[in-house]
Amino acid sequence: MLLKTLREEVLEANLELVRRGLVLYTFGNVSGIDRRQGLVAIKPSGVPYQDLTPGQIVISDLEAKIVDGNLRPSSDLLTHVELYKSFPNIGGVAHTHSEFATSWAQAEKPIPCFGTTHADYFHGSVPVTERLTSSEITKDYELETGKAICRTFARLDPDSIPAVLVAGHAPFCWGSSASSASHHAVILEYVARMAYHTLLINAGSQPLARELHDKHFLRKHGSNAYYGQVKTQ
Ligand SMILES: [Zn+2]
Repeated sequence: MLLKTLREEVLEANLELVRRGLVLYTFGNVSGIDRRQGLVAIKPSGVPYQDLTPGQIVISDLEAKIVDGNLRPSSDLLTHVELYKSFPNIGGVAHTHSEFATSWAQAEKPIPCFGTTHADYFHGSVPVTERLTSSEITKDYELETGKAICRTFARLDPDSIPAVLVAGHAPFCWGSSASSASHHAVILEYVARMAYHTLLINAGSQPLARELHDKHFLRKHGSNAYYGQVKTQ
């Protein structure tokens, strides 16, 4: 089977969204990429999660042309592909309509960093895209969604902020692998829920001090990171 390991990882990353309560019915999709071969493995469209098998994961190239698979890919494939092309370090993309992150996307409000949980994963607010124009929606909607995300990151680092809220739609998250992208989707939902509650408790809540935000992000990420155990390989 072509890309058997990647298919299995992508399947597992999709199932993680179900286990964590981030998706209803067939909502959501996760993909992963083999950079060496330039091939993307993505969930098929509209197949119930409990029925998914590695063989049903669809393989496409970076032009969204199907290379292997009998089922249609997730309708968001073109968005995923655009992110892989524009963000060269990412290895996986996860898209959900999880309740709280989607609520922020619908409100078209970036999620401020109110605490260290957010700072551990996202080095700054989680941004919102601009709305798509009517012609972008009518023509090449999924591709234009990807382009809108990339425009949002024109002056932001996608490796430091591995998530975005697509205005009026929902979040897209990414990471070094499909499982990392799913992990970020789960954390984003948790952070989005806490930010909502923070503002309910105190509508005047202020973002975390820059020093504390930097401290938490940089102790987990980058060349001076010291969180966790030393990797031996
Ligand atoms: Zn969606």
